[in-house]
Amino acid sequence: MTVLPPEHRAPYLGPAGAWTRGTAVASVALAALSAVGVTAAWVGASGRTHMDDVVPFLVLGVVAFAVGGLAGAVWLGGGLRSIRAERVALRRRLLAMDLGRVEVVATADVRVIGPGMTKVHRPDCEYARGKEVAEVPADAEVPECRVCAA
Ligand SMILES: [Zn+2]
Repeated sequence: MTVLPPEHRAPYLGPAGAWTRGTAVASVALAALSAVGVTAAWVGASGRTHMDDVVPFLVLGVVAFAVGGLAGAVWLGGGLRSIRAERVALRRRLLAMDLGRVEVVATADVRVIGPGMTKVHRPDCEYARGKEVAEVPADAEVPECRVCAA
């Protein structure tokens, strides 16, 4: 298992967080607008007994409620956008570090088997780890483990 240096973990834990200031301001403004609209619709419709008088306030309430949903979508979209950008940046950093290539080359041709085993495994396979195993010749015709044979 590879542990990333602290500078690669910092964006997730730093003070910047997942949301930009613009996303936070936009979603809070939309939520406030929604609250004002719902309150205005509620107050406007209160005490009115005829449906014709209530319909405009009902429409206002529905639109204001939809604006509240939009506020949530803006908030979640901003967070998802940040996470996606961090994932792409992390992938680029990992590719630049060229992790794992040396380990794969070192163990690619080595297969092991132990007493009672019916399949050959790579030395780092979870079925061979910690067990007494011996290397199998490359031309041996023994079925390969489906977990570690990639
Ligand atoms: Zn295996």
